[in-house]
Amino acid sequence: MIIPRKHVVGNSRRRYRAVVQQLLSAHQLLVGPRGQRFSPGALLIDDDRITAVGTLAEVEQRAAPDAHRLDHPQATILPGLVNGHVHLGFDSGADPAAALRASTDEELLAAMGQRARLHLAAGVTTIRDLGDRDGLITELRRSVERGEVAGPRIRAACAPLTPPGGHCSFLGGEVSGPEQIRSRVRDNARRGADVIKVMANGGQTSPDGPRMTDAQFTPHELSLIVEQAHALGLPVAVHAYTSEVIAAAVEVGVDTVEHCTFMGPDGAVDLRDSVAATMAARDIAASPALPSQWRAMWDKLGPERSQRIAERLRWLRDHGVPLLFGSDAGVPVSHHGDPVSTLELYEHIGVPPEQILELATTASARGLGLAAETGALRPGLAADVVVVDGDPLVDLQKLREPALVLSAGRAFPDGRPSHL
Ligand SMILES: [Zn+2]
Repeated sequence: MIIPRKHVVGNSRRRYRAVVQQLLSAHQLLVGPRGQRFSPGALLIDDDRITAVGTLAEVEQRAAPDAHRLDHPQATILPGLVNGHVHLGFDSGADPAAALRASTDEELLAAMGQRARLHLAAGVTTIRDLGDRDGLITELRRSVERGEVAGPRIRAACAPLTPPGGHCSFLGGEVSGPEQIRSRVRDNARRGADVIKVMANGGQTSPDGPRMTDAQFTPHELSLIVEQAHALGLPVAVHAYTSEVIAAAVEVGVDTVEHCTFMGPDGAVDLRDSVAATMAARDIAASPALPSQWRAMWDKLGPERSQRIAERLRWLRDHGVPLLFGSDAGVPVSHHGDPVSTLELYEHIGVPPEQILELATTASARGLGLAAETGALRPGLAADVVVVDGDPLVDLQKLREPALVLSAGRAFPDGRPSHL
């Protein structure tokens, strides 16, 4: 959506700063970390930042006399959600790779904008896109930052590193040998990547491509990628299914492990306690990236194999491995803008709602290195806020239709402070 010129961020923010303060109140306010709540709770927003959080009485005292009030007495205020694994370039159809190939850059960029909007409408105020074609995502990110397109905060990987003909090679990130590895990392950084994504195992996106259990890079190559990315100040997200590859990636110091399924070469489960312990000790997050349509997937896998997925998640949690919320939105079984269905999986395996909300907000923002910017309702952080009717701690479904979504203080879908 194109926001009318008068609401474009650069000018409007300055203009509103002096005159407009927003006071949001509700039956309860969840700060983000579990156990921290105010009831009745409120927060103050000046421009794009949170400036006060607390009980309604405390926050009222801090508010300017002309602050614009929005009271939601039956509702819950919580931080905007963080989805750490999406692909805006994929359409969630039967063959996202074919659909992407058939699109011009212009068409693809427009579709990516539509999908970004779906995430924001669902209360997701931050996404990390882990692979699009040639870094088009950075153009969308720029439009969102300028306020020309409504979308969440975007952290972008651009084209993932993969060997020639490797998993998702059609995204444009093919590399062979140390020289190409180094220059691809540099090129992605120049294009504006916030994170370097590396496809260390094969996958399922291309039927004729390498299998999920095939290693695509040697430990030495992984180490080169990490060294080069870290030298440029960028974290590394590694797509890894097998225990062998996960162990190598953890050893060389990647920052997040995507999928993190711990499979043996034959596809059977191969949980390695020592690797999980190292991940916990080095604060390397596991990003399970579970699709929104996980129930259909589990039906296909059967009860025994799906039970193993649940066991693996519990095992990671028991080892203290930080988890990231992510849905792999865009792949065939995962829709854009449906965070709640993925979160239901955690409910299904017995994680209490308060921990699920913490995972989808504070914990994931921290895992992405964004704790100083978003993921909680604290003074100084961006005003990324969701208001839902009722109590999501009692019923997670309440998250499905947010009454209000603010992205850096701007209400979706208008892109304006909520009272205008
Ligand atoms: Zn993915």
